[in-house]
Parts: sequence; structure tokens; C-alpha cells
Amino acid sequence: MNSVMTSVFDIFKIGPGPSSSHTLGPMKAARRFRQACSELESASREAATALDVRLYGSLATTGKGHGTDRSVIAGLLGWEPETCDPDAFDALGRDPDGTYAFQLAEGTIPFRPKHLHFDAAPRDLPHPNTLVFRLLAGERVLLEKEYYSIGGGFILCKGESEIPRPMPPVPYANMRQLRGQMERHALGLVELLWRNETVLSGCGADEVSRRLNGILDAMEHAVERGLVTDGVLPGPIGLSRKAPVLYRRSQSMPDSADRFAILLNAYALAASEENAAGHLVVTAPTSGSAGVMPGVVYLLAKHMEVPRPLLVEGLLVAAAIGGIARHNASISGAEVGCQGEIGVASSMAAALIAHIHGCDVGTVENAAEIALEHHLGLTCDPIGGYVQIPCIERNAVGAVHAYNAYLLASAGDPASQKIDFDAVVEVMLETGRDMSDRYKETARGGLAKSSIHC
Ligand code: SF4
Repeated sequence: MNSVMTSVFDIFKIGPGPSSSHTLGPMKAARRFRQACSELESASREAATALDVRLYGSLATTGKGHGTDRSVIAGLLGWEPETCDPDAFDALGRDPDGTYAFQLAEGTIPFRPKHLHFDAAPRDLPHPNTLVFRLLAGERVLLEKEYYSIGGGFILCKGESEIPRPMPPVPYANMRQLRGQMERHALGLVELLWRNETVLSGCGADEVSRRLNGILDAMEHAVERGLVTDGVLPGPIGLSRKAPVLYRRSQSMPDSADRFAILLNAYALAASEENAAGHLVVTAPTSGSAGVMPGVVYLLAKHMEVPRPLLVEGLLVAAAIGGIARHNASISGAEVGCQGEIGVASSMAAALIAHIHGCDVGTVENAAEIALEHHLGLTCDPIGGYVQIPCIERNAVGAVHAYNAYLLASAGDPASQKIDFDAVVEVMLETGRDMSDRYKETARGGLAKSSIHC
């Protein structure tokens, strides 16, 4: 069976913002290249004199706004996304004449920001986010690697089709098969997902639980930092943060539907503004959409007193939705537009809310389907290539929309639904293929070309 092979830790990854495909992916690609260089025979390593890095497609057109240059340098220096210091990360590449030491076993070779080339000329590419790394000895190429940042922080090297993984014990390729497997093996949704996760991640159940609690902590920290940080976000747009403003407003209000709506907006904005600031966030499923799930999770944890173990289960359910969307379509704005980022994030959050409210798998699926259905056709057109407008507010809208999707699903009979989740995922892919490249993270159309200039 052509199974979903995505682990929950592929969907939820801690790292610096603002973009999983343009920040996290390139950082991982550079780390992989560093590793490949270290595996060369010593004569080649000794002969090396320079590095050359080229960015193509969407990485070339919007990479500067997304910090791709900083990410490549960080990866070449061997930094880990989960543990890198956001302030040190922010400072990388500021000085175009600065020199960084690329470590090879026999010594170091200098790497300067000018060795990083943004090649925006239109060309046929195997993937819209392509990076080529070369290790040189004068003019001679000692090692060349081509990587693709395929969305959500995933990367593939040329020739690879998928990250090698052991087959999960209860494989499924889509939602229909997942429900079929539950029935066949008499398993509950969460039980099935736990079984698969321990094999996919190679971790025992305790370790999976510990790491998922770490993901929840990181989501909460991002929200909490964002709620108390005022000011203007980095970059030429001059966009002011809104989360602390809404949060302060909520503090003088009695508990009411209005207050919860303000809080949900504030929480989603807070994590998203932290992402735009390049601070540590959790991809869910991408960095651009890193506010939707944390916003919902924070509301559930702090105001509905949902216990941690149930939130951990909710992450597994949400990741299953994200994994199916990724497996059968895409979670990359550069491939299918924002429907694959905020649309999938909202769909994941709707599934989590439904699960936490004790809904059966049919209602969970229906909540995810409704959330994604009403994001179909959503374009990716960030102004100036910065993950700020429309991205930040779109996270708040996606979080509120997720709650609404759950409410709508809870009012229907899952058995009589006319459209299932798999059909909507298929339509998302088809719509993404029909979408002009101008609306796929190239900053060449839509809002990016509007009268608002940065
Ligand atoms: S518009 Fe959507 S897909 Fe594009 S960068 Fe912003 S959040 Fe990501």
C-alpha cells in the first residue's frame, strides 16, 4: 500500500520563523550538504577552497524576505533549528562582507553572503524551491548537491522521492483507508495513530509523549511571548503587532462569547507575529501557518481546561489530517498556494477541536473537510515576500474558521455527508495545479502587487 509515511514530528517541528519552506528547509539542506562534505575523502576536503550556493524559483524571488540567506548560513555552520538562538540567527548575513568559517575536518574555508546567489531568472525547475550547493577547489567542482524544499520544512535531495522510513503497522493512504483500517483492526483513531507513530518516529510511546509535550510547550511559549511583545515587526513594511493590543482589551471584559473570540484571535496572532519576527515557533504544518494550531491549543488549555494528555492526542489527530493532505496534495504555498498552508492548518485545528470534544471519527473528518473546503482557491501572495501581509491575520482567521468548522460538523450526521475529506484534498491539488505561479509564493501577483508597498 502506498501509505502516508509522515510522522507527527514531521508536521510539528520547532525552529525559527518565518517560513518552513524558505527558512527551515534551506537550513536543513545546508546541514545535509555540510554532512555530505564531511563524508568526502580527505584529499578532496584538503583541496577545497570555496563554497557556492544558488537559490532558484520561489527561493530566489522571496528568499530575502523569508531569511533564506540566514538559514543557509546557519545550516552551513551546523546549527540546529530547534536549539538555535533566534537573536544570533537574526544577526547572520547582516554584513554582506562578513565571513563565516565553514568547517571541514581538515580546517575551515571562508563563506561570505556574496557566495549565495539568488537566481530569479525564469527556468524549468524540478521543484519551485530549488537549492544547489557546490564545494569547489578553484574552478573544479568537488561536490555538487541539489535539494528541494518541498514545504513544511521537508527537503529532498535530487533523485530521492521520499524520506526512507519503515512501513507503519497499520498503513493508510487517505482518510477512507484510515477509517477502513480502524474497522478492520477494531482500533480507535488515537490507538491506530499511536501504533503507527512509534514505528514512523522510531520512538517508544513514552518518548513520543514527552516530545509531543515539548511541542505543546513550544506552542504555548510562542503565544505567551507574542502576547507581551509590542512594537513593529522586522522588515520594510513597518507592520505593528496586534496581539498584545487585543489581549489587553480582553483583560477588562467579562467571560463571554466576544471575549473568547478576541482571545482566540489574539493567541493565533501572537504566535504568528513571533514567526514573522523570526523567533522560535512550531510548524503546524508550516511556519507561515504557525499561529492557527497554537491559537486553538492555547484557548483550549487555558480557558476550557483541556488536560494535557487529551491535547497530546489532539496533536496526533491533527497531524494525521496534515499528513493525508501532504501525501495526496501538498502543504507548500509554492506548490498549491495558501490553501495548502492556512487551509490545511485550519483543517488540522478543526479535527483537533472535534476530537477534544469527544466526537467520533466521522465528525472529526467532517470538521477537517469543512475547514479545508472553505479555504479552497486561497492564493499565496505575501507582500514583498515577507510572511506578514496577508499571513499574520490569515492565521487568526484560520483559527476562528477552525472553531466554526467544528461547530458546523457537530450539527450534522457524518453518515450523510456529501463531500468527504479526500475529495477536498484532491480538489485542493487540482486547484493548486491550475493556479498561476504568480499566486504561489513568488510575490509576483495579488496582494504582493497591490498599491501597498514596502
Ligand atoms: S500567504 Fe499563506 S502560504 Fe503564502 S506565505 Fe503567507 S501564510 Fe504562507
